[in-house]
Amino acid sequence: MSDVHNVIIIGSGPAGYTAGLYSARAMLEPLMFAGYMSGGQLMLTSDIENFPGYPEGIGGPEMMMQLREQAERFGLTVQDKNVEAVDTQSRPFKVTVEGEDFFAHSLIICTGAESIWLDAPGEADQKGRGISTCATCDGAFFREEEVLVIGGGDSACEEATFLTRFASKVTLIHRRDVFRASTIMYERAANHPKIEIKTFRQVKEWLSDEKGLTGAVLEDPRDGSTEEIAATGAFIAIGHKPITSFLGGQIDTDDNGYIIHQSHTMTSVDGVFAAGDVVDTRYKQAITAAGMGCQAAMDAEKWLEENVH
Ligand SMILES: Cc1cc2nc3c(=O)[nH]c(=O)nc-3n(C[C@H](O)[C@H](O)[C@H](O)COP(=O)(O)OP(=O)(O)OC[C@H]3O[C@@H](n4cnc5c(N)ncnc54)[C@H](O)[C@@H]3O)c2cc1C
Repeated sequence: MSDVHNVIIIGSGPAGYTAGLYSARAMLEPLMFAGYMSGGQLMLTSDIENFPGYPEGIGGPEMMMQLREQAERFGLTVQDKNVEAVDTQSRPFKVTVEGEDFFAHSLIICTGAESIWLDAPGEADQKGRGISTCATCDGAFFREEEVLVIGGGDSACEEATFLTRFASKVTLIHRRDVFRASTIMYERAANHPKIEIKTFRQVKEWLSDEKGLTGAVLEDPRDGSTEEIAATGAFIAIGHKPITSFLGGQIDTDDNGYIIHQSHTMTSVDGVFAAGDVVDTRYKQAITAAGMGCQAAMDAEKWLEENVH
């Protein structure tokens, strides 16, 4: 068996790097596998204005480079590789990475969540520009502009209502006439003077010019008829998918795949911790992910002290 690490961190978003920083400063010599998207979701966004400490805002990729540099300065080792599988049935834990096995007494899982996108034609060019999946993050960029929200659940209704703070008009687009949203969320949106609801519509294609998004072609799924709608921003709110399939069901998750904390940041397996969007069904922010990464590293350190060293 090769060296046994104190802790292996899986994932390199704000949760992973903060866990890396804390465990490196605790002299645990952590090893991180950064994954298929080194830097995580913030690599997709140009401006972060709500992470404390950056009065002028900061670019997502730039912030993630800084987090990585800071953690590496204290001894975090990062490999830009993807974890294929973990074996938590035996100890030390085994982590399989591109065909090679690594071993660790503890794991911190920070693999985040992916927003579900529509993948309609024209979407790829506008991702992180005119089209977003996070109103809290990007809503303020659309002051006095007309925006679309796509979806029919609580988050779509909540995002539409939130966006009325900035946008001059919000059109909520849903492909059915029945909303999954709770009555209170739906009514709050439906009764808002700035919100128009269009049912039986789905995005067939996004429209843009050299300046950015200009609107969308909407289709009625019942008869295929189409219409154009103008908008400079659009928010897709059709759900998130936590990245947990590589765990092979060894760690308890809820029905949607989010890891469940059993005690502080520890999961159902003793010595396996989790932090960030992979756990978080509610906040999904860089600062909350970073905060939880700190907690997971401190919990792992204490657990190692009590159980291994
Ligand atoms: C477009 C956009 C804009 C946003 N803007 C803001 C904002 O302005 N402010 C804000 O607070 N939040 C913003 N967010 C939300 C924020 O990005 C997330 O809350 C935050 O990134 C979650 O951090 P995390 O560390 O939990 O996971 P993530 O950032 O999702 O990182 C997950 C990491 O896990 C890695 N990974 C996944 N699978 C594996 C594997 N098998 N092996 C190894 N590694 C793996 C990935 O490579 C990635 O590095 C935005 C999100 C998006 C999509």
